Amino acid sequence: MMTGVSRWAAGLLFAASAFTFLPHSQAHARGKKVVPSVEREANRWTQRATQSVIRIPLTVHVATEQGDPVTSRARVTQWVLRANRALSRAGIEVYVHSVKHLPKGWRAVTRAQQRRRLAGYAPSDGTIHVFVIEELDKPRRRRARRRVRGLHWRYRGIRRELQEREYVVVTGGAPKTTFAHELGHLFGLAHSKSTTNIMCSCRQGNMLGFTPGQSVTMRRGAQAYLARQPNRHGAFGESYADRR
Ligand SMILES: [Zn+2]
Repeated sequence: MMTGVSRWAAGLLFAASAFTFLPHSQAHARGKKVVPSVEREANRWTQRATQSVIRIPLTVHVATEQGDPVTSRARVTQWVLRANRALSRAGIEVYVHSVKHLPKGWRAVTRAQQRRRLAGYAPSDGTIHVFVIEELDKPRRRRARRRVRGLHWRYRGIRRELQEREYVVVTGGAPKTTFAHELGHLFGLAHSKSTTNIMCSCRQGNMLGFTPGQSVTMRRGAQAYLARQPNRHGAFGESYADRR
Protein backbone atom coordinates (compact mmCIF):
# COMPACT_ATOMS: atom_id res chain seq x y z
CA MET A 1 0.00 0.00 0.00
CA MET A 2 2.77 2.39 1.02
CA THR A 3 4.79 1.56 -2.04
CA GLY A 4 1.67 2.13 -4.13
CA VAL A 5 1.10 5.56 -2.63
CA SER A 6 4.75 6.62 -2.84
CA ARG A 7 4.92 5.40 -6.42
CA TRP A 8 1.78 7.39 -7.18
CA ALA A 9 3.21 10.42 -5.36
CA ALA A 10 6.56 10.09 -7.14
CA GLY A 11 4.71 9.83 -10.42
CA LEU A 12 2.72 12.94 -9.62
CA LEU A 13 5.84 14.76 -8.53
CA PHE A 14 7.60 13.74 -11.75
CA ALA A 15 4.63 14.84 -13.86
CA ALA A 16 4.42 18.12 -11.96
CA SER A 17 8.11 18.86 -12.32
CA ALA A 18 8.08 17.92 -15.99
CA PHE A 19 5.07 20.17 -16.43
CA THR A 20 6.49 23.14 -14.62
CA PHE A 21 10.11 22.83 -15.69
CA LEU A 22 9.80 24.10 -19.25
CA PRO A 23 7.29 26.91 -18.80
CA HIS A 24 9.16 28.06 -15.70
CA SER A 25 12.52 28.25 -17.46
CA GLN A 26 10.91 30.03 -20.41
CA ALA A 27 9.23 32.50 -18.11
CA HIS A 28 12.58 33.11 -16.50
CA ALA A 29 14.24 33.72 -19.85
CA ARG A 30 11.44 36.05 -20.86
CA GLY A 31 11.74 37.90 -17.57
CA LYS A 32 15.41 38.53 -18.27
CA LYS A 33 14.83 39.99 -21.72
CA VAL A 34 11.80 42.15 -21.10
CA VAL A 35 11.53 44.45 -18.14
CA PRO A 36 7.82 44.77 -17.46
CA SER A 37 6.72 48.25 -18.38
CA VAL A 38 3.17 49.41 -18.94
CA GLU A 39 4.38 52.16 -21.23
CA ARG A 40 6.38 49.78 -23.38
CA GLU A 41 3.46 47.39 -23.61
CA ALA A 42 1.21 50.28 -24.67
CA ASN A 43 3.71 51.36 -27.33
CA ARG A 44 3.95 47.82 -28.65
CA TRP A 45 0.20 47.55 -28.83
CA THR A 46 -0.04 50.87 -30.71
CA GLN A 47 2.66 49.79 -33.14
CA ARG A 48 0.81 46.57 -33.85
CA ALA A 49 -2.48 48.42 -34.27
CA THR A 50 -1.01 50.92 -36.74
CA GLN A 51 0.68 48.09 -38.62
CA SER A 52 -2.61 46.32 -39.29
CA VAL A 53 -2.71 45.19 -42.91
CA ILE A 54 -4.36 47.47 -45.45
CA ARG A 55 -6.12 45.09 -47.85
CA ILE A 56 -7.06 46.52 -51.23
CA PRO A 57 -9.21 44.71 -53.80
CA LEU A 58 -8.17 44.53 -57.45
CA THR A 59 -10.36 44.62 -60.52
CA VAL A 60 -8.38 42.84 -63.24
CA HIS A 61 -9.41 43.69 -66.81
CA VAL A 62 -7.91 41.29 -69.33
CA ALA A 63 -7.72 42.20 -73.02
CA THR A 64 -8.91 39.56 -75.45
CA GLU A 65 -7.68 38.48 -78.84
CA GLN A 66 -10.21 36.62 -80.95
CA GLY A 67 -12.19 36.03 -77.79
CA ASP A 68 -9.27 34.58 -75.80
CA PRO A 69 -7.70 36.43 -72.87
CA VAL A 70 -4.12 37.59 -73.62
CA THR A 71 -2.81 36.07 -70.39
CA SER A 72 -3.78 33.34 -67.95
CA ARG A 73 -5.20 33.73 -64.48
CA ALA A 74 -2.27 31.72 -63.15
CA ARG A 75 0.10 34.38 -64.44
CA VAL A 76 -1.89 37.18 -62.83
CA THR A 77 -1.88 35.21 -59.57
CA GLN A 78 1.93 35.02 -59.76
CA TRP A 79 2.13 38.81 -60.15
CA VAL A 80 -0.18 39.31 -57.17
CA LEU A 81 1.78 36.90 -54.97
CA ARG A 82 5.06 38.57 -55.94
CA ALA A 83 3.63 42.03 -55.23
CA ASN A 84 2.31 40.95 -51.83
CA ARG A 85 5.70 39.51 -50.90
CA ALA A 86 7.26 42.94 -51.54
CA LEU A 87 4.37 44.91 -50.02
CA SER A 88 4.20 42.95 -46.76
CA ARG A 89 6.85 45.20 -45.21
CA ALA A 90 4.53 48.17 -45.84
CA GLY A 91 1.57 46.31 -44.32
CA ILE A 92 -0.30 46.33 -47.63
CA GLU A 93 -1.95 43.37 -49.31
CA VAL A 94 -3.80 43.30 -52.62
CA TYR A 95 -6.20 40.58 -53.71
CA VAL A 96 -8.18 39.83 -56.86
CA HIS A 97 -11.77 40.89 -56.28
CA SER A 98 -12.96 40.38 -59.84
CA VAL A 99 -11.65 39.52 -63.29
CA LYS A 100 -13.28 41.02 -66.38
CA HIS A 101 -12.62 40.55 -70.07
CA LEU A 102 -12.22 43.69 -72.15
CA PRO A 103 -14.06 43.82 -75.49
CA LYS A 104 -11.96 43.44 -78.62
CA GLY A 105 -9.78 46.38 -79.62
CA TRP A 106 -7.69 46.63 -76.45
CA ARG A 107 -4.82 44.30 -77.34
CA ALA A 108 -2.53 47.33 -77.77
CA VAL A 109 -2.70 50.70 -76.03
CA THR A 110 -0.20 53.03 -77.66
CA ARG A 111 -1.79 56.48 -77.73
CA ALA A 112 -2.68 59.04 -75.05
CA GLN A 113 -6.25 59.09 -76.32
CA GLN A 114 -6.55 55.33 -75.81
CA ARG A 115 -5.25 55.68 -72.25
CA ARG A 116 -7.97 58.20 -71.51
CA ARG A 117 -10.60 55.94 -73.06
CA LEU A 118 -9.32 53.02 -70.98
CA ALA A 119 -10.04 55.12 -67.89
CA GLY A 120 -13.72 54.72 -68.77
CA TYR A 121 -13.39 51.13 -67.48
CA ALA A 122 -11.81 52.27 -64.21
CA PRO A 123 -14.39 53.97 -61.96
CA SER A 124 -13.22 55.12 -58.51
CA ASP A 125 -14.92 52.22 -56.74
CA GLY A 126 -12.36 51.43 -54.05
CA THR A 127 -10.57 48.80 -56.13
CA ILE A 128 -7.31 49.17 -58.02
CA HIS A 129 -7.97 48.69 -61.72
CA VAL A 130 -5.35 46.55 -63.45
CA PHE A 131 -5.42 46.24 -67.23
CA VAL A 132 -3.61 43.32 -68.77
CA ILE A 133 -2.92 43.94 -72.44
CA GLU A 134 -0.43 42.75 -75.05
CA GLU A 135 1.34 45.92 -76.16
CA LEU A 136 2.06 49.32 -74.64
CA ASP A 137 4.31 50.88 -77.23
CA LYS A 138 4.41 51.20 -80.97
CA PRO A 139 5.82 48.20 -82.85
CA ARG A 140 8.30 50.36 -84.77
CA ARG A 141 10.06 51.21 -81.51
CA ARG A 142 10.71 47.58 -80.72
CA ARG A 143 14.26 47.52 -81.94
CA ALA A 144 15.26 51.01 -80.86
CA ARG A 145 14.21 50.73 -77.21
CA ARG A 146 13.31 48.22 -74.60
CA ARG A 147 9.61 47.38 -74.69
CA VAL A 148 7.35 49.19 -72.27
CA ARG A 149 6.01 46.48 -69.96
CA GLY A 150 3.91 48.42 -67.50
CA LEU A 151 2.30 51.76 -66.89
CA HIS A 152 0.75 53.74 -64.08
CA TRP A 153 -1.83 56.23 -65.34
CA ARG A 154 -3.56 58.96 -63.35
CA TYR A 155 -5.77 61.62 -64.82
CA ARG A 156 -4.59 65.15 -64.11
CA GLY A 157 -6.75 67.13 -66.52
CA ILE A 158 -9.91 69.15 -65.97
CA ARG A 159 -12.60 66.80 -67.33
CA ARG A 160 -14.86 66.13 -64.43
CA GLU A 161 -15.89 62.61 -65.44
CA LEU A 162 -12.23 61.55 -65.40
CA GLN A 163 -11.27 63.14 -62.09
CA GLU A 164 -9.53 60.71 -59.72
CA ARG A 165 -9.38 58.08 -62.45
CA GLU A 166 -6.26 56.01 -62.00
CA TYR A 167 -5.12 52.57 -63.11
CA VAL A 168 -2.12 50.38 -63.86
CA VAL A 169 -1.37 48.44 -67.03
CA VAL A 170 0.78 45.32 -67.20
CA THR A 171 1.59 43.60 -70.49
CA GLY A 172 1.11 39.85 -70.77
CA GLY A 173 4.83 39.20 -71.22
CA ALA A 174 6.00 41.44 -68.38
CA PRO A 175 8.44 40.20 -65.71
CA LYS A 176 6.86 39.08 -62.43
CA THR A 177 7.89 42.26 -60.61
CA THR A 178 6.31 44.71 -63.08
CA PHE A 179 2.97 44.67 -61.30
CA ALA A 180 4.65 45.42 -57.94
CA HIS A 181 6.62 48.22 -59.66
CA GLU A 182 3.44 49.84 -60.99
CA LEU A 183 1.73 49.53 -57.60
CA GLY A 184 4.79 51.33 -56.19
CA HIS A 185 3.99 54.27 -58.49
CA LEU A 186 0.31 54.11 -57.58
CA PHE A 187 1.26 54.31 -53.89
CA GLY A 188 3.49 57.35 -54.49
CA LEU A 189 6.97 56.06 -55.34
CA ALA A 190 9.33 57.49 -57.93
CA HIS A 191 12.09 55.50 -59.65
CA SER A 192 15.16 54.22 -57.81
CA LYS A 193 18.67 53.68 -59.17
CA SER A 194 19.49 50.61 -57.09
CA THR A 195 19.63 47.34 -59.04
CA THR A 196 18.06 45.47 -56.10
CA ASN A 197 15.11 47.84 -55.89
CA ILE A 198 11.75 47.05 -57.46
CA MET A 199 11.42 50.71 -58.49
CA CYS A 200 14.48 50.57 -60.77
CA SER A 201 14.13 49.74 -64.46
CA CYS A 202 17.65 48.30 -64.01
CA ARG A 203 16.39 45.76 -61.43
CA GLN A 204 17.86 42.26 -61.52
CA GLY A 205 17.78 39.01 -59.56
CA ASN A 206 15.46 37.38 -57.04
CA MET A 207 16.14 39.53 -53.98
CA LEU A 208 14.23 42.56 -55.22
CA GLY A 209 12.19 44.57 -52.78
CA PHE A 210 11.26 47.97 -51.43
CA THR A 211 13.32 49.86 -48.82
CA PRO A 212 11.88 50.65 -45.36
CA GLY A 213 11.59 54.31 -46.43
CA GLN A 214 9.65 53.34 -49.56
CA SER A 215 7.43 51.11 -47.44
CA VAL A 216 6.48 54.03 -45.19
CA THR A 217 5.69 56.17 -48.26
CA MET A 218 3.60 53.38 -49.80
CA ARG A 219 1.58 52.85 -46.65
CA ARG A 220 0.65 56.52 -46.62
CA GLY A 221 0.04 56.32 -50.36
CA ALA A 222 -2.30 53.34 -49.96
CA GLN A 223 -4.33 55.20 -47.35
CA ALA A 224 -4.44 58.27 -49.61
CA TYR A 225 -5.52 56.11 -52.56
CA LEU A 226 -8.47 54.71 -50.61
CA ALA A 227 -9.34 58.17 -49.29
CA ARG A 228 -9.71 59.58 -52.80
CA GLN A 229 -12.13 56.86 -53.90
CA PRO A 230 -15.46 58.69 -53.80
CA ASN A 231 -17.60 55.58 -54.32
CA ARG A 232 -15.78 53.11 -52.13
CA HIS A 233 -18.50 52.88 -49.51
CA GLY A 234 -21.20 52.37 -52.10
CA ALA A 235 -19.29 49.59 -53.80
CA PHE A 236 -17.79 47.72 -50.88
CA GLY A 237 -19.29 49.04 -47.67
CA GLU A 238 -17.14 48.68 -44.60
CA SER A 239 -16.38 45.04 -45.19
CA TYR A 240 -14.20 45.25 -48.28
CA ALA A 241 -11.06 44.92 -46.21
CA ASP A 242 -11.99 41.43 -45.01
CA ARG A 243 -13.04 39.72 -48.20
CA ARG A 244 -11.14 37.03 -49.92
ZN1 LIG B 1 8.27 52.96 -63.42
